[in-house]
Amino acid sequence: MIDDTSFTIANAPLAGVIGMPIAHSRSPALHGHWLRRYGIKGYYVPLPVMPEHLADVLRILPRAGFVGVNVTIPHKEAILGLADAVTDRAALIGAANTLIFRPDGKIHADNTDGYGFIANLRQNAPDWQADAGPAAVIGAGGAARAVVASLLDSGVRELRITNRTRLRSEQIKAEFGARVVVYDWAQAGNMLEGAQTVVNATSLGMEGKQALRIPLEALSPGALATDLVYTPLMTPFLIEAQGRGCRIVDGLGMLLHQAAPGFERWFGQRPEVDDDTRRAVIG
Ligand code: NAP
Repeated sequence: MIDDTSFTIANAPLAGVIGMPIAHSRSPALHGHWLRRYGIKGYYVPLPVMPEHLADVLRILPRAGFVGVNVTIPHKEAILGLADAVTDRAALIGAANTLIFRPDGKIHADNTDGYGFIANLRQNAPDWQADAGPAAVIGAGGAARAVVASLLDSGVRELRITNRTRLRSEQIKAEFGARVVVYDWAQAGNMLEGAQTVVNATSLGMEGKQALRIPLEALSPGALATDLVYTPLMTPFLIEAQGRGCRIVDGLGMLLHQAAPGFERWFGQRPEVDDDTRRAVIG
């Protein structure tokens, strides 16, 4: 006699998130919420993987019922060298966060962080316009590269950027072109003057880290301020920006929206990002 439960589990699509450490990841709670909401028989699990085991694990997962995975720190850049196909946006950003394991065994790598960033702004600040004025991006790490790509793609005409390590912002200018203007970290406050979109793309302001300390006096009231950090939801940067009359959007929505394309590819259902989704992840 066939055991129905094991039969169902054996045939349910599997997905997960690869990283190290991975225990803090909110992705299993997010995808688990969507699986329950849509009644999908699938599983999404955290997969702690050391860098030296990444290639081996990627070879095995498609043979073990996995249809794809998310990839997070520290594997987002290394994964590009292991994938069979890389989307243009992932190649431009230099990192991938979403893998599709195709039926022919090929691994397809994409980066949905920039999509998630813009979708979050469009949902939570519907009147935001990319071309309303200069954008100012603080930080030049992996997430900042996705933000820069998506802002330029959305029609920002001037993108100002600053980073503690100036070389990384210079690299972004060299790769993304003439619309990018580099400001020195010591002069970061100056780049806020007239900026209509201001983004903290550093890890400063996260729980356990120091706050972002660049002077915000030049922030224009009415400008849109957003933070990629979402623990806490209200970062010191967002609190001060709000106090100066800015519209603010927190970083949680970016996390939720960047996950939607992967969920749809793996489980066949475009998930809705709404208040219930936020609550499930903050939970
Ligand atoms: P990353 O590649 O390690 O970059 C970290 C950035 O923070 C760099 O610009 C770095 O500057 C800066 N930084 C770190 N410590 C600093 C300090 N003490 N003083 C000044 N600058 C400092 O990390 P990432 O992947 O870009 O992630 C950045 C943040 O975005 C993280 O908090 C991450 O959790 C968040 N994130 C959120 C989402 C979302 O969906 N909301 C998605 C992706 C990332 P240097 O170059 O000088 O080191």
